[in-house]
Amino acid sequence: MSDPHEPLPSDPHELTILNPATEEVVATVPAATAEDVDAAVVRATRAQATWAALPPADRARLLRRFADGVDQHIEELARLEVREAGHLLGNARWEAGNARDLLLYAAGGAERLLGKQIPVPGGWDVTFQEPLGVVAVIAPWNFPMPIAAWGSFPALAAGNAIVLKPAETTPLTALRLAELALDAGLPEHLFQVLPGHGHITGRALVDHPDVAKIVFTGSTRTGREVMERCARSVKPVTLELGGKSPNIVFSDADLKTAVDPFSFLDNSGQDCCARTRILVHETVYDEARELLADALAAVVVGDPADEKTQMGPLISRQQLDRVRSFVSDDAQALRGGAPDGPGFWFPPTVLTGERPDSSAAREEIFGPVAVLLPFTDEADAIRLANDTPYGLAGSLWTRDLGRALRVSRAVRAGNLSVNSHSSVRYWTPFGGFKQSGLGRELGPDALTAFTETKNVFISTEGPAQ
Ligand code: NDP
Repeated sequence: MSDPHEPLPSDPHELTILNPATEEVVATVPAATAEDVDAAVVRATRAQATWAALPPADRARLLRRFADGVDQHIEELARLEVREAGHLLGNARWEAGNARDLLLYAAGGAERLLGKQIPVPGGWDVTFQEPLGVVAVIAPWNFPMPIAAWGSFPALAAGNAIVLKPAETTPLTALRLAELALDAGLPEHLFQVLPGHGHITGRALVDHPDVAKIVFTGSTRTGREVMERCARSVKPVTLELGGKSPNIVFSDADLKTAVDPFSFLDNSGQDCCARTRILVHETVYDEARELLADALAAVVVGDPADEKTQMGPLISRQQLDRVRSFVSDDAQALRGGAPDGPGFWFPPTVLTGERPDSSAAREEIFGPVAVLLPFTDEADAIRLANDTPYGLAGSLWTRDLGRALRVSRAVRAGNLSVNSHSSVRYWTPFGGFKQSGLGRELGPDALTAFTETKNVFISTEGPAQ
């Protein structure tokens, strides 16, 4: 088997987009070269100057019109996401709606991006939140629309221009969003989408001297390279990276809800917040295993465009090979079913015989695979929860309020849920501890992350006589 971490050999000039459920070609798209990146950044720089000069209320009005356009095309965008990414239709509708809602939230932020007036002796001191310029967003394939939106829309609202490089497998919804931005009246070239290969288009954006900030979402391995390259010119970078999130289930939990397999099967497990380490108190371990076995057997896997389907395919053959490399045929496991090819199918799986230090228990698999591990007491649960290089998300389930507070403060992760598996709301901050990333997206401070703070002191002493 080829190394699943290396990019597949592919045409440097063209991207072929496959439907992951059928392996049929959906579209071919030109791939941007380094020269295309140069030209896009020049155009974006001009557009940004026009955009930043608009009063914030005018920027907000145009972004709201863009949101209306997205709203009118939810079904089209969702069906495109189903075809290029294999997402369930219902989820894809939610994703398009998430992009619309974030536009509306960010539009309001443009009107409330305020400076401060700070008391100082001898004069007045004021701060301004100034846009950075051209921001490059490098997005992955797992949630093409929301992640493109999270990196781009708050930055636009703060007065920046965007050059977005979608993943090479999933550029179509981003391209459509850029058309809708133009239709809404945003300046030409303000929101550009450049499909291309990571090691060509992505690197050219990261290295470009006129790109003021990089927002990268993807693997920790590529994120590390992006950060190293940004360091060369001290370029700010936001990194949203991998996860291996715990689902901590105490013995007083509502067990059936707590071990719901959709806590890690959503998007076929290709979710950086997936709760892929199910940590269960030893006294309820056997019951949890039985519940999971029944639930996995009942998961409906198949055509993502069918509204009855509960889990679709993986994104690509490369990803399928990666997931297979973590699960041997003779592994101790609970398994559901999956269609045979064509398409990139892997059955919902819970590994029950893993040691906490095995690669399946510690590394991001990014497929419908979790490990089930017992713990002995609260301290043991916290130790296991923190025993990975990641710190993105996690859940804990207990009816004991004191325990919920203690454990949620002790787990080193950016996004925790108590008695819930939910992680992401566009109005609350999102991001990781440790090797899960750097910086935060979304929430009330999302726009500020795309500004520089300028401090101006104005003397009231008057000129010396
Ligand atoms: P990558 O991190 O390599 O890709 C993410 C984005 O970065 C894509 O747009 C990619 O382009 C681009 N890219 C790749 N190399 C570079 C580079 N050198 N400089 C700039 N941009 C680059 O993820 P993969 O798609 O290779 O997936 C591999 C694994 O990463 C998955 O199995 C999963 O574990 C993890 N992953 C995690 C995600 C998360 O949200 N936490 C999201 C996606 C993947 P291109 O598409 O051309 O490669």
